[in-house]
Amino acid sequence: MNDLQPILLPDLDLSRPLVIAGPCSAETEEQVLATAHSLARHGVQIFRAGVWKPRTKPGGFEGVGVEGLAWLQRVKQETGMYTATEVATRAHVEAALAAGIDLLWIGARTAANPFAMQEVADALKGHDVPVLVKNPVSPDLELWIGALERIYNAGIRRLGAIHRGFTWVDKSIYRNHPYWSIPIELQRRIPNLPIFSDPSHIGGKRELIAPLSQQAMDLGFDGLIIEAHCKPDEAWSDKAQQVMPDTLAFILSNIIIRDMNTTTDNLNELRHEIDKLDDELLTLLARRMQVADEIGRYKKAHNMSVLQSQRYEEILARRARQAVELGMDREFMRSVMQAIHEESIRHQQKVIG
Ligand code: PEP
Ligand code: MN
Repeated sequence: MNDLQPILLPDLDLSRPLVIAGPCSAETEEQVLATAHSLARHGVQIFRAGVWKPRTKPGGFEGVGVEGLAWLQRVKQETGMYTATEVATRAHVEAALAAGIDLLWIGARTAANPFAMQEVADALKGHDVPVLVKNPVSPDLELWIGALERIYNAGIRRLGAIHRGFTWVDKSIYRNHPYWSIPIELQRRIPNLPIFSDPSHIGGKRELIAPLSQQAMDLGFDGLIIEAHCKPDEAWSDKAQQVMPDTLAFILSNIIIRDMNTTTDNLNELRHEIDKLDDELLTLLARRMQVADEIGRYKKAHNMSVLQSQRYEEILARRARQAVELGMDREFMRSVMQAIHEESIRHQQKVIG
């Protein structure tokens, strides 16, 4: 994807963060226009609103449909903001393009389904419109890249990604766990792909929008897509995570944009220190695996099973406790120990054959 066009829309002020904001759903013409006018006054350049809403269960508010596209047209005429909406089917793409919507995004549930992605991609063939692809609900980088490739292969060159977090099995403060290493790896794999963060859907609650936005900027994301509503508490979808336009402006004004390129000597020294520590970590891990091999040989000789779950539980619990004492997060340490244990088991299985 070397020939991506980094500029998604003409005449945008590209200073970071580029902000897309607007309600989760277009509910009524009044709600859309009231929200849009406030956001425009605060300098937002791209207005979002879902007119087709993918709901986990039937019976929820599924969007107003094509009727809402006319409201977005009014937003554009009256405020000059660009407009954006979610598409999931060929019919959505055709209707949105016919209405002159400026930017399309593909939701997390659609991105998880290659058949749906291909249908959307086929509908986009021959059109030149910017498209943002959200990460699929599962933490699967290849599936995300595959979804982006389908859109790229349809000829779209104004392409970008939205990180909106992932479904998680463990308890978490987030609605969708950010799992930052996945979007970071995406940036490494496709460096010229603009990437937005969606702190509203990651956090699931208003209070988390500010810290998540700051984190995304510190990690070098290009932009943010944030849900804003003129009356958040009365929203028909995603109530807890929407903010008033004034609140959004306040959050944005407090974000600190740190320079991603200049490094001081001091920083280089600290990075050198980190590299040295990583070397040591890897050496230790390799030694641990050698011991695991040894244990594998012992278990084989004594006809014992590889997985001894009681011992495993003890290790997890003890190290999680110890981590907290050392100022680290217990869930973090459990994940680390789980990953190490998995690799040990793989070693032992190889030895046992
Ligand atoms: C949305 O943007 O309102 C939405 C439905 O998001 P997601 O696809 O990330 O769940
Ligand atoms: Mn939403």
